[in-house]
Amino acid sequence: MTARILDGTKIRDEIFAELKDEVAILSSAGIRPGLAAVLVGENPASQLYVKSKIAACEQLGMGSGLLTPDASVTTMGLLAIVEDLNRDNDTDGILVQLPLPAQVDTKRILEAVDPAKDVDGFHPMNLGKLVSGRPGLVACTPAGCMEILRRNEIAIEGANAVVLGRSDIVGKPMALLLMHANATVTICHSKTKNLADVVRGADIVVAAMGKAGFVQADWIKPGATVIDVGTNRVTDAAEAEKLFRNFPARLEKFRAKGNALVGDVHPDAVNVAGAITPVPGGVGPMTITMLMSNTVKAARMRRAKTIPRVISAGGPAGAGAR
Ligand code: NAP
Repeated sequence: MTARILDGTKIRDEIFAELKDEVAILSSAGIRPGLAAVLVGENPASQLYVKSKIAACEQLGMGSGLLTPDASVTTMGLLAIVEDLNRDNDTDGILVQLPLPAQVDTKRILEAVDPAKDVDGFHPMNLGKLVSGRPGLVACTPAGCMEILRRNEIAIEGANAVVLGRSDIVGKPMALLLMHANATVTICHSKTKNLADVVRGADIVVAAMGKAGFVQADWIKPGATVIDVGTNRVTDAAEAEKLFRNFPARLEKFRAKGNALVGDVHPDAVNVAGAITPVPGGVGPMTITMLMSNTVKAARMRRAKTIPRVISAGGPAGAGAR
């Protein structure tokens, strides 16, 4: 059996088309959703992420701004920038690209962002709303995983869902979203005993551990849905040989490039699962998509409550806390 591939790029394109319409409607009413990115220093990976987020804004007709304080910026300096953005009416979403330099108090910065503009969904106020099932801004990666499940009509209600990982940005919000959608949820972490057996009972597995190919194919219940959040760059040839033992084309590509992107689930799981997200091309494209969706949602919640909405992404279906 080969699993159905849950294509994140296809869902991104669907949601982008919906968002484009919504941005046009809002803009014609004088409200152009805008995202401000704060990029500290010159970390090349962060530069790349921010660049693609700004490109996505442009693609959707949204406003965008980029602030680039020096790597030597202090907590107070960064707080002043965030406060300015909080006051700016044209800024609907504030994105502080992580990681911040060691001298900056990251928690203090994230908590200074106005919760109404917290499009990453990291503010304790938004996390609290998620816990209590109230509408708010939800962390982008787990919100994207829910869109993948919903748009592929994977049954969530009554399903046994196992979430591997309990981080504040992926595992915890993911578990809460699944619970609000009426799954029976088990959260696993590095101290969980008999992990393989726990995963074997899952109808839906969400892997967010940061360990390449850790979840073995024989842990997956035949026919289960697998959402692989892991994004691990493998550079070791012996490791690649093990991971791609049944995928000669991927092994060839690894040999040519010297590295490959692998999820937390072993690639062999595609022969056991009923449906699975690929890495790359599964959850990855959904994170920026949901950032855009959250920015439009933030604009609507703060500035355009009375204008009819056209999109379903991030809508109320299934969970009060979307
Ligand atoms: P994280 O903060 O490092 O959390 C990892 C979690 O996995 C922790 O809760 C940890 O348990 C658990 N864990 C680690 N080893 C384990 C083991 N052997 N058995 C069971 N649980 C184990 O990571 P994160 O930020 O949530 O990200 C997770 C993965 O998702 C990473 O690969 C990251 O790159 C990827 N990611 C992808 C996207 C995307 O857009 N596709 C977005 C965000 C993250 P403890 O709590 O006990 O330490």
